[in-house]
Amino acid sequence: MGKVQKTEAEWREKLTPEQYHVTREKGTERPFTGDYQVEPVQGIYHCVCCGAPLFENEHKFEAHCGWPSFDRPLAAASVEEHQDGSHGMRRIEVTCRRCDAHLGHVFPDGPAETTGQRYCINSVAITFHAGE
Ligand SMILES: [Zn+2]
Repeated sequence: MGKVQKTEAEWREKLTPEQYHVTREKGTERPFTGDYQVEPVQGIYHCVCCGAPLFENEHKFEAHCGWPSFDRPLAAASVEEHQDGSHGMRRIEVTCRRCDAHLGHVFPDGPAETTGQRYCINSVAITFHAGE
């Protein structure tokens, strides 16, 4: 599967200003403003930029951090992880493998009974497709 590449102007046309800021400029939405609550609905979250399937609702958990949190991506190949030293922190950035959209960060403080990972994702970077 090849990379989706668009110019800055093409992304700006496709995305809302907030979606553009988060996914293409590595922004962060304000906590407790998005789709952070856990609902018992079957479905898949897709990349808002390119439509790639990224996370499953089944893997979402209540992390009390104000952002949607997952204990794993849909598949290891769905996302890429990069060292991120910005803002004086050592974090691991998570991006969409298909289009390089910034999604959020992954932290090693997820649920110990599953993976121990917390994929802390901006909800403006993902769209939910119920029933998938
Ligand atoms: Zn994407």
